[in-house]
Amino acid sequence: MLNTLENDEPIFPISTAAKLLNISIHTLRMYEREGLIIPYKKESNQRLYSKSDIERLECIRKAINEFKISINGIKALYSLIPCWEIVKCSQKDRKNCKAYNNHSEPCWNYEHRKNICEKRDCRNCDVYKKYNQCGEIKELIKSISR
Ligand code: SF4
Repeated sequence: MLNTLENDEPIFPISTAAKLLNISIHTLRMYEREGLIIPYKKESNQRLYSKSDIERLECIRKAINEFKISINGIKALYSLIPCWEIVKCSQKDRKNCKAYNNHSEPCWNYEHRKNICEKRDCRNCDVYKKYNQCGEIKELIKSISR
């Protein structure tokens, strides 16, 4: 089994990722525009996807095809990830944070100014990275409410 580092290594160009997922490049680009996925970007702007990205996209496809959840529905689910608990931001940060105060977009889709997330690289942030598998958001909520 591949270790975490290998899982996170961006190795697949967009055409390979699309082939692995059996979807079009256009669809993959649309998922990125909607903020469901943050691919690794090379300096040349070429997108690369890791094994973890592919697993995340499989989960998204399952939500759309099997559970009939819309893209906006998936974004709303991601918005429920309690980033404030994971990042441990201050009450002041929360008060002025659009992500904390809204429930339609994942926190990484907002521009963060003058808060703890201002310089955060979302692709490598635990909030984005750790809850990319189907079921993990629920496990997180369970662990917090124990
Ligand atoms: S996005 Fe950042 S600042 Fe906003 S609530 Fe989440 S952790 Fe706190």
